Amino acid sequence: MAIATINPATGVIENTFEPHNSDEVERRITAAQSAFLELKSTSYAQRGQWMQAAADLLEAEVDATARMLTIEMGKPIAQSKAEVLKCAKNMRFYADESEGFLAEEKLADPSSVNASSAWTRYDPLGVVLAVMPWNYPLWQVIRFAAPALMAGNTGLLKHASNVPQSALYLDTLFERAGFPAGAFTTLLIGSAEVKAVLEDRRVKAVTLTGSEPAGRSVASIAGEQIKKAVLELGGSDPFLVMPSADVDAAATMAVKARISNNGQSCIAGKRFIVHTDVYDEFARVFSAKMAALVVGDPLDPATEIGPIATESGLNDLAELVDDAVAQGAEVLTGGSAPDGPGFYYSPTVLAGLTDDMRIVMEETFGPVASLYRAADRADALAIANQTTFGLSSAVWTQDSEEEEWFTRNLDAGAVFINGMTISYPELPFGGIKDSGYGRELAAAGIREFCNLKTVWKA
Ligand code: NAP
Repeated sequence: MAIATINPATGVIENTFEPHNSDEVERRITAAQSAFLELKSTSYAQRGQWMQAAADLLEAEVDATARMLTIEMGKPIAQSKAEVLKCAKNMRFYADESEGFLAEEKLADPSSVNASSAWTRYDPLGVVLAVMPWNYPLWQVIRFAAPALMAGNTGLLKHASNVPQSALYLDTLFERAGFPAGAFTTLLIGSAEVKAVLEDRRVKAVTLTGSEPAGRSVASIAGEQIKKAVLELGGSDPFLVMPSADVDAAATMAVKARISNNGQSCIAGKRFIVHTDVYDEFARVFSAKMAALVVGDPLDPATEIGPIATESGLNDLAELVDDAVAQGAEVLTGGSAPDGPGFYYSPTVLAGLTDDMRIVMEETFGPVASLYRAADRADALAIANQTTFGLSSAVWTQDSEEEEWFTRNLDAGAVFINGMTISYPELPFGGIKDSGYGRELAAAGIREFCNLKTVWKA
């Protein structure tokens, strides 16, 4: 795939970039390793000061940066601005909290291990490779970079090939803020070059956010190399609505959960599983709200849904819908791509889905919602857990016993009750099953790329 910015709202190629050759990749790995030796001996206070300065830069540059995100991958401009500011918030969070998250822990009774004292400490691992997707071109990267740098690691970013301008912005951000040169740099390379970088002995670990096939490939290389990996992969999150829920509020939130980021979010509610007692009401309100959404130019502040990020993404989405419709799915609204330039797809709601349709098991990355009627809560849970994914979930109920039952039994990395899944710096984030392993954010996120070192003293 060429490394290029293609504006998804127009289909026009805005910019193409030459990939880094092997000499340049080598130079950047060397710089990352040198920066690690320097960074690991700095204090949390110093790293925190640089991290705050990087957050200041993001905030000062929010308008131009947001415009760049929207032109590269098509999200509505207000959401691009929110993404930039959320990155700054995450950086400030880790600037403040990292020292506490990585503090030494003393064993209360060292005599139990025949020691005068014993404790654990967290040391950085070294250079970490980050393979990242285009859907949140800044957030996915900062979610990894802020804790990694605060822990004393350095980062090499292999960003998705369709967001090179975002990748190059991130290439200089941390150095501009004061971090040692090479502490966080971009490799402009294709996915075929990832293997050689991960096999380099100076690269100690890898984090990948992206699709399941990319995760399988990178995890197998990491396994062969015995290197730590964190995988944040796809999802097909269930959004369950039970009879005790406020159905109107649930339907309103369901629309937001499905269409934010033009429907291209790993944690979007994608399958709406509704108890039969409230199904008809939910389907009516939800479909009407989906049909009323404003689709258009993502630079226009009035737009609620912009284009799909790439032409191939649009084709994949259309194929899933067409397959379902060909096998008898009912289209409550949408169901096709509008005429005209750009990679747009109309907000779509499908019902009457059967197990032989691909859409039941596969991820829909765009504004397409699948609606399921559940006979009772056991049926709702069975539908929720039937896919191979296990990223997040949402359940709407006012019944506390039911709430506890779903929380315990949903196969997912998170459960959001009477709301939609959102990532917060303060909460661990990640999945199970084919959605990956490991956690980002909160204390768990910063500890992933550390050596938990045990110290025993006679
Ligand atoms: P993708 O095609 O897997 O690409 C993600 C990154 O992996 C890109 O940098 C890509 O590079 C690279 N890549 C692809 N195949 C690779 C391989 N075989 N070896 C090494 N690197 C490879 O995914 P995407 O289309 O950009 O992103 C959408 C997917 O990401 C969805 O499934 C979504 O659910 C998931 N996602 C998950 C999370 C989460 O936190 N769990 C968050 C966001 C997105 P190229 O661009 O050069 O191919």
